[in-house]
Amino acid sequence: MTERIDGHTILIGLMAYPIRHSMSPTMHNNAFAKLGLNYAYLAFEITNATLPQAVDAIRTLDMRGSNISMPNKQKVMDLLDKIDPAAEMTGAVNTIVNDHGVLTGYCTDGTGFMKSLEDENLDIRGEKMTLAGAGGAGTAIAIQAALDGVKEISIVNKKDAEWENAKRNVEVINSKTKCKATLFDIDDQATFKKEIADSAIYCDATGVGMKPLEDLTLVSDPGWFRKDMIVFDTVYAPRTTKLMTVAQEAGVQHVFNGLGMMLEQGAEAFKLWTGENMPVDYIRDLLFSE
Ligand code: NAD
Repeated sequence: MTERIDGHTILIGLMAYPIRHSMSPTMHNNAFAKLGLNYAYLAFEITNATLPQAVDAIRTLDMRGSNISMPNKQKVMDLLDKIDPAAEMTGAVNTIVNDHGVLTGYCTDGTGFMKSLEDENLDIRGEKMTLAGAGGAGTAIAIQAALDGVKEISIVNKKDAEWENAKRNVEVINSKTKCKATLFDIDDQATFKKEIADSAIYCDATGVGMKPLEDLTLVSDPGWFRKDMIVFDTVYAPRTTKLMTVAQEAGVQHVFNGLGMMLEQGAEAFKLWTGENMPVDYIRDLLFSE
């Protein structure tokens, strides 16, 4: 690391709170080192209150950009010069690129999800997806899948605080893309089962399956799945969630956790900042091999 840092090193940030647990600094700094790129990536504890000064600092310090995470993904949008159309539709920014003082906001979670499927030679364009969850991850996935040509998305959500956002996602998709989106109450189990049965992919973006809910899954009957479908859990810790175990019991061929999505959302940001492809397989082996 010290060998790489000199008077020309370009700074990239991560602005969120809490953030000390994040893998992103390790991921990006190892990728810079592997490719011999003169960048450094540092995490900063930034709240909504300190965000305006922090975003100003991107310009002042001539940083190349920053990742943005909770609680700043929405709030940051008012502080930027331009917003990428997909991020605008998602209503969130997780990556800022600084082009000589002009700050543009992107959302790479959705592109990361689609790219992670592409990495497995899977193409869900023209297919139907059932998607549980309409929070940060669910929204980014739904919007990008619709933009990329997924034919139909059935969003299932609880009638909780995110229900209104789920309704908004359906409206945005139906008014701005060719995809047909519909919202269902997840407690209507018969409909939930039928929507999955009709889908090429079931994606869970709720966080059920992650601590403290690691013993839970929204689908516990293997009979709900077909062998030829994709089952995708956005959770990556634990590596094998309860949902994935149920899908494996059903003999589902393509069962994934969220690790590929996490790596690829980082790789998308890496490409925006440096113009280079992140060595994703190298990073996966280095940081996540078990
Ligand atoms: P969020 O809080 O913004 O949204 C959570 C969603 O799940 C909401 O729609 C909520 O209604 C629903 N939900 C919550 N509890 C539920 C329950 N018991 N039953 C049914 N629905 C429930 O969260 P988020 O930021 O969107 O994150 C969701 C998950 O995605 C987390 O596990 C997170 O780690 C993961 N994630 C992964 C990546 C990745 O790159 N792999 C990126 C972002 C988030």
